[in-house]
Amino acid sequence: MERRSLSEIWEEAQNLFPFSQSIRRDLHRHPELGYQEKRTAGIIAGELKQLGYEVRTGIAETGVAALIEGNLPGRVVMARVDLDALPIQEETGAEYASQVPGVMHACGHDGHVAVGLTVARMLASRREELHGTVKLVFQPAEEGLGGAERMIAEGVLDDPVPEAALALHLWNQLPMGKAVIRPGPLMAAADMFTIRIQGHGGHGAMPEKTADPVLAGAQVVTALQSVVSRSISPLESAVVSVTQFSAGDAFNVIPDAALLRGTIRTYEPDVRERVLERVRSVAEHVAAGMGCSAEVLIQPVTPAVINDPQVAKVTAAAAAAAVPDLRIDETYRVAISEDMAYMLEQVPGCYFMVGAAPSAEGTPYGHHHPKFEIDERSITVAAAILTAAILDLAKSSDHS
Ligand SMILES: [Zn+2]
Ligand SMILES: [Zn+2]
Repeated sequence: MERRSLSEIWEEAQNLFPFSQSIRRDLHRHPELGYQEKRTAGIIAGELKQLGYEVRTGIAETGVAALIEGNLPGRVVMARVDLDALPIQEETGAEYASQVPGVMHACGHDGHVAVGLTVARMLASRREELHGTVKLVFQPAEEGLGGAERMIAEGVLDDPVPEAALALHLWNQLPMGKAVIRPGPLMAAADMFTIRIQGHGGHGAMPEKTADPVLAGAQVVTALQSVVSRSISPLESAVVSVTQFSAGDAFNVIPDAALLRGTIRTYEPDVRERVLERVRSVAEHVAAGMGCSAEVLIQPVTPAVINDPQVAKVTAAAAAAAVPDLRIDETYRVAISEDMAYMLEQVPGCYFMVGAAPSAEGTPYGHHHPKFEIDERSITVAAAILTAAILDLAKSSDHS
């Protein structure tokens, strides 16, 4: 894509700011929890139909997918944004604060919908120069409710099958004017573990007659901290956190069993395999050394968000050309997880993060905080990056 047409994208995204802001503020006033985003989906579908998109609604309850075909030959490119709010009572005091008690857009997904609809307008006004087909996906229930998997099960990645996929998060922990567009892992895989330590209870004053699962559990908690520090290279990263420990009902009784639960976060599949294997082995052997036995159950929660190097490269180049003075960070990553990971397992793509800190001073209240806020101009930056990347990816025949 020529630089001229990319600089027009920036201008148009800025001109659309009042539209983007009004969408974001309207949704912020009327937040809806996962699978209940009926009003939100109605606004999205109405706007897309008016722009001439072919719209499908009701995917995974409240999901929407829309297609626009360009006049020129090209590839199928998908962009996904999420819709849901969180069960949090808003405390920002903003003029456009949530009007729904106990529900708040505290992750910025209202801003994501605004980005999606702003991009929809920019693509619709470029049909003449648009290559290929663009599929815009508005996904419900990202906040741990499995929206992406359900949309995939209901065919969102079929007919037409996307050849590249994009998604983003407005991120208020990064300053305005910065974007994270990187190859490889961006967000962590999450696994949940449960360790049941079986001992042999008895009188608290006669420990020699027991196999104490409380002591064994305490040793297991401590020993698990050696998994990351001793089994993983200092150049790789992982998290093992024991977050629950329950055992016993009385001050003078050594209980029969103890239960530990926690989470494991990793970025690389081989690191993940190693950590899971070590957690299992350490728990079993340490418990055995204390005369108890450990049963370890590991349940995968979400895979890692892993960006395709070629799609990330095209996205970064398009972003740099479209947004003046954009600072692109290629190293940042976060240990949170995101269900876009399931779509990126099937379609090569790029998940990027757009700086949205509400002010230059101090650390803003983070995502999922009752005082969470973003700088709304980040919506313009994100919409320009997404539009430019879609246009370039739809045009290129070999990702390069
Ligand atoms: Zn969130
Ligand atoms: Zn989020």
